[in-house]
Amino acid sequence: MQPNEAREIALREYKNNEQTIRELRNEFTNTPGFASDEGEVSTFEQMRAVNTARINNLTARQFDIKATLKRIAEDEFGWCEKCGAEIEAERLETVFTAENCSTCSDLQYHKDRHFAQ
Ligand SMILES: [Zn+2]
Repeated sequence: MQPNEAREIALREYKNNEQTIRELRNEFTNTPGFASDEGEVSTFEQMRAVNTARINNLTARQFDIKATLKRIAEDEFGWCEKCGAEIEAERLETVFTAENCSTCSDLQYHKDRHFAQ
């Protein structure tokens, strides 16, 4: 994937995510602040929890996209941050926010699993 193409995709997704985050936030400002019974309160709390989780995921994704845009601007897009090798084209096609080549990424995955135990 070429940097220009990645930038276009990144900017489009960033904009969409912004919109979704705004909508998710509005959902709760528009919900009336009263409930007729406890069941309704807990449903509301569950919905709010799901909503908050989605907002957090999207916010984390926005950070990744911003980091990718920064790498594109600095001419570092497509190069592994760990070993400096070129990131596989296939990998970038599926994960344009990839910071590492498959080798470094697999290594990190196994390290994380090892130390998580
Ligand atoms: Zn690497």
